[in-house]
Amino acid sequence: MKILVAEDDDVSRFMTVKAVQQIGYECISAADGEAAWELYLKEGADAVISDWMMPGLDGIQLCKRIRQMDDQLYTYFIILTALSEREYRLEGMRAGADDYLAKPLDRDELQLRLIAAARVTGLHRKLQEQARELERLNREFFESGRIDALTGIANRLRMQEDLRAIKARVDRFGDAFCLALFDIDHFKLYNDTCGHVAGDEVLRNVALALAGACRSGDTVYRYGGEEFLAVLGTPNIELAGTIVDRMRASVEQSAIAHPKSETSQFVTVSAGVAAFYPGAGVSIDDALQRADAALFDAKQKGRNRVVVFDPEDEKETEQSAVT
Ligand code: GH3
Ligand code: MG
Ligand code: MG
Ligand code: MG
Repeated sequence: MKILVAEDDDVSRFMTVKAVQQIGYECISAADGEAAWELYLKEGADAVISDWMMPGLDGIQLCKRIRQMDDQLYTYFIILTALSEREYRLEGMRAGADDYLAKPLDRDELQLRLIAAARVTGLHRKLQEQARELERLNREFFESGRIDALTGIANRLRMQEDLRAIKARVDRFGDAFCLALFDIDHFKLYNDTCGHVAGDEVLRNVALALAGACRSGDTVYRYGGEEFLAVLGTPNIELAGTIVDRMRASVEQSAIAHPKSETSQFVTVSAGVAAFYPGAGVSIDDALQRADAALFDAKQKGRNRVVVFDPEDEKETEQSAVT
């Protein structure tokens, strides 16, 4: 514990510092309130023993300043009062002092006060450490609660939160963006052929391929079982279609063998893309449904392809054929 002694009387200051050191604590001292405040700011202290009457800043003002600081650690404040100032002790405690010591200084009394000071500051330190640890755990739980345990990408909870935030931005700034829904082709067949564990590995690889092929700022979420959603920060649906097709191609190029598939020798995905424009009377849910309708169309057309939902004439156009 580090003690700061503030006392304008040289003899009294010398005696107090010596007594504190003899009890076994580190001690720094200042000869007036202002100097004590400077020293406190510079070096900090676990406890302050301050004279009441000092030129310039007195003990009460010093105490108030320390209490007003939004300090991380609690400083135990002991005010020194001569017998004639007894009636002011209440005032001292009200100003934020924790205890008082009568002058002339009695070493046993000082030791008692410092034991209490060590206990209180120790408790505060422990509380602060616990609060920090709780904060850290909270952040950790918050983050892990938003990550899909299997694939390591953002999960549906994060997706819902992000979509709400995006919606707010759309309403406020009129931003537009695009959504793409991906679904692994013949995945049930893959599980049946290669086993569920291998299927899990495919999900991880597909997530990695999709996340790796989108642009920075775009996000891929695990939407459900073998479905993924990408939020693309572009309002340009044609550009979105190109990006999504690149993502589709990236999965195909991962070249994960799909032994029984009749549409490709590799694991592939189909995707549907839709745009979300502000003020077009279309909700995000509508945009998701449009992307889903386009995805359904991509499946119907033979899989491993991207279909873009055209908002102009409410019909879908195929982005690319199977190569
Ligand atoms: P389609 O080409 O029409 O999409 O056919 P599909 O077989 O992929 O579609 P379907 O909806 O019939 O099957 C989806 C499969 O995805 C069924 C389910 O067992 C599997 N699946 C969903 N979640 C997981 C998972 O976490 N791990 C594994 N291994 N499989 C999963
Ligand atoms: Mg004095
Ligand atoms: Mg599906
Ligand atoms: Mg599927």
